[in-house]
Amino acid sequence: MNDYVGSLLAEVKAKNSAEPEFHQAVREVAESLALVFERHPEYRQAKILERIIEPERVLMFRIPWHDDQGRVQINRGFRIQMNSAIGPYKGGLRFHPSVNLGILKFLAFEQVFKNSLTTLPMGGGKGGSDFDPKGKSDNEVMRFCQSFMTELFRHVGADTDVPAGDIGVGGREVGFLFGQYKRITNAFTGVLTGKGLSWGGSLIRPEATGYGCVYFAAEMLQTRKQTFADKVCLVSGSGNVAQYTIEKLLDLGAKPVTLSDSSGYIYDEAGIDREKLRFVMDLKNVRRGRIKEFADKHKTAVYTPVDSKLDHNPLWNHKAQCAFPSATQNEINGKDAANLLRNGVFVVGEGANMPSTSEAVNQFIDAGILYGPGKAANAGGVATSGLEMAQNSMRFAWTREEVDNRLHIIMKSIHKACVETAERFGTPGNYVNGANIAGFLKVADAMMDQGLV
Ligand code: NDP
Repeated sequence: MNDYVGSLLAEVKAKNSAEPEFHQAVREVAESLALVFERHPEYRQAKILERIIEPERVLMFRIPWHDDQGRVQINRGFRIQMNSAIGPYKGGLRFHPSVNLGILKFLAFEQVFKNSLTTLPMGGGKGGSDFDPKGKSDNEVMRFCQSFMTELFRHVGADTDVPAGDIGVGGREVGFLFGQYKRITNAFTGVLTGKGLSWGGSLIRPEATGYGCVYFAAEMLQTRKQTFADKVCLVSGSGNVAQYTIEKLLDLGAKPVTLSDSSGYIYDEAGIDREKLRFVMDLKNVRRGRIKEFADKHKTAVYTPVDSKLDHNPLWNHKAQCAFPSATQNEINGKDAANLLRNGVFVVGEGANMPSTSEAVNQFIDAGILYGPGKAANAGGVATSGLEMAQNSMRFAWTREEVDNRLHIIMKSIHKACVETAERFGTPGNYVNGANIAGFLKVADAMMDQGLV
């Protein structure tokens, strides 16, 4: 680590204590950017990275609501408006009990670079709440979403800040949030993405993050003249990203064998085929059940509950060629990375945001495998949100093929930008440096143009 990165990180830690995920995300980007600052001292003089690290605005607010028993419940809401140099703030909302300021700041920081990579005009933001939708009735989720939007509405807008879904926020929640925004403002605008198809949503938006991640991984494979045919794939999570990752893997002839939730994981040696995937979609999106039921129904699958005493996740300890972490941050630690490499994994496509610890990332890079970091590999979700915004502005809707085609082109261009930038800065094959530097340069140039604001 050079002196500049060292002192920058010391300052970030001192100023933002108790935010370890934010420190981790900043450290990774700063280490990549050291290569840029050697060639471009002007960015360092203008303190561009220091400015990107400091959110433009942080909103934190109370969300009071009544549960079904008529009891008062209080949650905490957040919106981090991180950077608007290249477009309105854009990024999802996460509803999960683990949500806190540091986690949302890491996500908002990553989002700035990711959105820049998409080639679309979107700044970076993120938000959410420590509300846990699990076990809540539809009416409770609605009352919570309405209360959340009753504060958030004054800070967002189609040209200001456009939130979307993330963990715990899917079509149901976006619907309730949009309804309340429209009611308060008396305006039907594209203030959220991930909307329903009959009220401004885009075809392919639900599929986009998973599909995009597999498109990106297919491009990585292509650099070694390989395809997904017959590749065994480990997938974690069983929500939006995991489901559509599996769907696209099946389209391309791969064999996905795992899925998980926060209670445990299933390993199905026979492969998760389309019929089993339909079962998962119904289980998770309609019945809102647990992944254990997959093994109750399918006898070829084995369920393993989470064992908090283990120092690794056994999901990552099966023979495979590809891994798609699609649940949450830091779900692959150093031991997991070693297990993956030992079991033959040479493609990692990060559907989740920052799912690998720094130790795991370093092992992937040292091993020279095809490692696609989240801010590049999972950018298809926000890219398609950008396409939803474009369609809303035109008051027009593209076909499924048109949106999918645009998504595919965007993922190819992100891959190309990563490869070319990594090479230009002397680290060929390093997608981490490629993504961080390519994402940074566009935002940095816009900030230089716009003066000290
Ligand atoms: P969902 O809420 O649809 O699904 C999340 C899945 O991950 C669930 O299976 C959930 O299990 C599991 N999970 C969540 N937290 C934990 C945890 N702490 N430990 C173990 N498992 C956990 O979310 P998404 O699929 O939308 O998001 C998954 C990841 O992808 C996140 O990192 C998100 O930031 C990222 N992402 C999502 C995008 C999108 O468009 N949705 C875009 C880009 C990135 P359980 O139900 O038990 O909690």
